[in-house]
Amino acid sequence: MAISDDDLDRLGRCVELARTALDDGDEPFGSILVDAAGQTLFEDRNRVSGGDATQHPEFAIARWAAANLMPAERAGATVYTSGEHCPMCAAAHAWVGLGRIAYATSSAQLTQWLAEWGAPPPPVATLPINAVAPGVVVDGPAPAYADTMKSLYETKFRA
Ligand SMILES: [Zn+2]
Repeated sequence: MAISDDDLDRLGRCVELARTALDDGDEPFGSILVDAAGQTLFEDRNRVSGGDATQHPEFAIARWAAANLMPAERAGATVYTSGEHCPMCAAAHAWVGLGRIAYATSSAQLTQWLAEWGAPPPPVATLPINAVAPGVVVDGPAPAYADTMKSLYETKFRA
């Protein structure tokens, strides 16, 4: 499945959430959960500034879905995210049986940009989602958001 215009709109919301996170001192990542009918059910953004580095929005979405959706609803839902799920979040997504993922920028792009800026790599390997969760349908990146996301990342991560 390719990235559609509706997908781009939803990824745009994720980028807005990433910017909000950055403005609040968190890392620039945002994500939303959309049901099979196209309704946004839940949205969140990175919240690591309090000292808990596991406060990723994709993890929050997996927990929200497990608490609030039946398994069939989870499978029919799509998670949109500004940056590709890390292995922790990819695992959580698969464990709770969520459906498709669409992302604006990939872990490979972030890894390359961090190296370009001389920033330290994350403590967890930047594996593609399908290396962790092989059954999940994944689409991305969306080149339309590459420059915007790179700029948000640069503000946060460039030494
Ligand atoms: Zn994560």
